[in-house]
Amino acid sequence: MKIAILKEGATDERRVAATPETVKKFTALGAEVAVEAGAGLTASISDSEYEVAGAKVAARAEVLKGAEIVLGVQGPDPASLQGVKPGALVAAILNPFGAGENGGRARVDAYAAAGLEALAMEFMPRITRAQSMDVLSSQSNLAGYKAVLDAAAEYGRAFPMMMTAAGTIAAARIFVMGVGVAGLQAIATARRLGGIVSATDVRAATREQIESLGAKAIFVESVAGIAGEGSGGYATEMSDEYKSAQAELVSAHIAKQDIVITTALIPGRPAPRLISDAQVASMKPGSVIVDLAVEQGGNVEGAVAGEVVERHGVKIVGHRNVPSRLAADASALYARNLYNFLSAFWDAEAKRVALPDDDEIVQGVRLTQGGKVVNERLSAQ
Ligand code: NAD
Repeated sequence: MKIAILKEGATDERRVAATPETVKKFTALGAEVAVEAGAGLTASISDSEYEVAGAKVAARAEVLKGAEIVLGVQGPDPASLQGVKPGALVAAILNPFGAGENGGRARVDAYAAAGLEALAMEFMPRITRAQSMDVLSSQSNLAGYKAVLDAAAEYGRAFPMMMTAAGTIAAARIFVMGVGVAGLQAIATARRLGGIVSATDVRAATREQIESLGAKAIFVESVAGIAGEGSGGYATEMSDEYKSAQAELVSAHIAKQDIVITTALIPGRPAPRLISDAQVASMKPGSVIVDLAVEQGGNVEGAVAGEVVERHGVKIVGHRNVPSRLAADASALYARNLYNFLSAFWDAEAKRVALPDDDEIVQGVRLTQGGKVVNERLSAQ
């Protein structure tokens, strides 16, 4: 079974879908791995490292020729996959609800029309068995970490309290909004840097998680939020009553903060708006806001995807594709997620992947098969 690893085509995508470690592991399973020349360079992996690990490095057409599995970080253009075997698997972050250059429903339809079996890695069900295959978690974790470093880099002051001969510097106050995987890592990172950290979420279960990391939980008390973890660990759109109570709480808290990191997402919907322009204006000049949800519509009014903008003396950071800003580690974790997924369905005798139709994981990630779009989440659209 031949596995093709492509060089990413999307603007500013620095990650790669395989590392020498996963090449070695796939080869040990009996697969043949071909890597497009230069695929790993932006993630600090040279062609020769792939070769040493057992891959063949070649031009794209050669890599795709006869491939039965194509691995990418973002979904490759279906028209660029000439030469693969009919029915080949394409596993990547396919972003079927997105409108960007490398996502959208039309692209899924094109995979179906090309007879490819498209597998959306970000649709991995959040069940215990699939934890090691969960690309949203592995990438969000790094994004949460990098968001704090990006904030620190834009901030004209230090994070920790420092007592120096020239006097004392006060510790920075950091407020994290949205405490999923990225938010938890942001809290931990801001604490490690010596900041005074507080955090909020709509899911009640996060209170204990916030406190166990040594941060202060700031919660709406007057209106009930989402009990426990929420369905599948996810939030839903909140009532107008909750939203106005949350806006009041945020207004009272945010003016005293130096750094705000927002990470709030609602699956299948635009990101909730958590900070208004008036609330930005209430912050001290020199404060920094990082909006990790900027590509999903943004949590912060005025945030611009791909830019650092200044409003009322406050910097609003809206970097796109934050995991790609840590390309080497993000690639290492993403590549392991892919390996863990494919090896879990490896038929050792036939030395190939066999995806059973009745498996919850397969049903979750499979978007197209036999020329049709087969995923429940897409047919409901
Ligand atoms: P996410 O990226 O969908 O959202 C980020 C956070 O924003 C969530 O905590 C959400 O509750 C919060 N949020 C949404 N609307 C908000 C609002 N209006 N105000 C404030 N906060 C808001 O979440 P995620 O990082 O994907 O994690 C969701 C959950 O799934 C977590 O509890 C995580 O531990 C769990 N999880 C489970 C598994 C598994 O069991 N395999 C794997 C990964 C994550």
